Amino acid sequence: RFSVVPTAPPDAILGLTDAFNADTNPNKMNLSVGVYKDATGQTPVLQSVKAAEQKLLSNEKTKGYLSIGGLQDYCDHVRTLAFGDQVPAERVAVLQTPGGTGALRVAADFLKTQLPGAKVWIPTPTWDNHRAIFDAALLPNDGYRYLAADRTSLDLDAMVADLREKASPGDTVLLHGCCHNPTGIDPTAEQWKVIADVIAERRLLPLIDFAYQGFGDGLEADAVGLRTVMDRVDEAMVCTSFSKNFGLYSERVGAVSLVAAQASEAAAANSQLKRMVRTNYSNPPRHGGAIVATILSDPELTAIWKSELDTMRNRITQLRQQFVETMKTTGAGHDFSFLLPQKGMFSYSGLTPMQVDELKQKYGIYIVGSGRINVAGMSESNMQSLCDAVASVLEG
Ligand code: PMP
Repeated sequence: RFSVVPTAPPDAILGLTDAFNADTNPNKMNLSVGVYKDATGQTPVLQSVKAAEQKLLSNEKTKGYLSIGGLQDYCDHVRTLAFGDQVPAERVAVLQTPGGTGALRVAADFLKTQLPGAKVWIPTPTWDNHRAIFDAALLPNDGYRYLAADRTSLDLDAMVADLREKASPGDTVLLHGCCHNPTGIDPTAEQWKVIADVIAERRLLPLIDFAYQGFGDGLEADAVGLRTVMDRVDEAMVCTSFSKNFGLYSERVGAVSLVAAQASEAAAANSQLKRMVRTNYSNPPRHGGAIVATILSDPELTAIWKSELDTMRNRITQLRQQFVETMKTTGAGHDFSFLLPQKGMFSYSGLTPMQVDELKQKYGIYIVGSGRINVAGMSESNMQSLCDAVASVLEG
């Protein structure tokens, strides 16, 4: 019977990594998958994480199940990191989930079952998995315009027009809290106010994907968009991921938060979110959440983590600047200064699919077909050869 099962297409980004691994070019570079790398090309375990793990190992008493919603102190920290003290705790339901992806899937199942008929509006472009997750949950979704035709800026007018004219009251709008993936183009503080006003005026439900807090301008600065929206509305959902900012990719650490207008509504929504979890993965894995809770409950470990996060963010900013500067010296005559205001690990380079393909074939440089570059995949040592290769495909 399995003879009827067709082969699924490979994942666009993870498939590229398979091709990268098989490439024998000694100078190959992987600028596709969204993982932070240090100057030695490693994705290190943070010192704060190692210290927390040591504490956990010596104090661990049981491998018993967590509750469906996960660790309570972890969930309290998730709420504080996202909302500060802007929203009273009793109006927020938080559940620990396996990564940000798990959070998005629980949110999608919740929206599909509890708000039947409502559509989710997602930015064009967005992380490919958004649409895939919503489709898998049978949740109707559609795109709103985000990236301007020049592919280097946000088209706020088009975004607002789509949210005002295409989305119906009661629909959900997915927003990247910061460090938009794949473009690196975030709204400014002023633009967030305009977006928040439209969401409030059109009675849309904001669903904020918050996967890079601290990778843009800093932990608090990166929450400005979310908090501007929360100033205008009393209902929202947030999907948190700690994969990047704690470097906990493989531990699958995330959370889904729901803000309701009343405490009683938050409690009812919480009970439904738990139903979604129970029939999906039953309850979350303990380890990653326990690491985050251990760090954030200990002022010393928190200080170490914050400085490690600053290091990661500053390195990405420097690499982006270095790329722009080095490109100027290649004589390709193509100014990449538009990358400078972009935030987070990713940048839309403007390279065409043909140029991307040439970089792969000729130079072993792997970039996603859309031209999205993982800036954190660059390094001081490969910068010149990367820029020479980019210059040559631009000239070609
Ligand atoms: N949202 C966005 C925008 C992301 O880029 C990612 C990670 N690539 C996620 C969510 C999911 O993160 P996680 O690995 O924690 O599932």
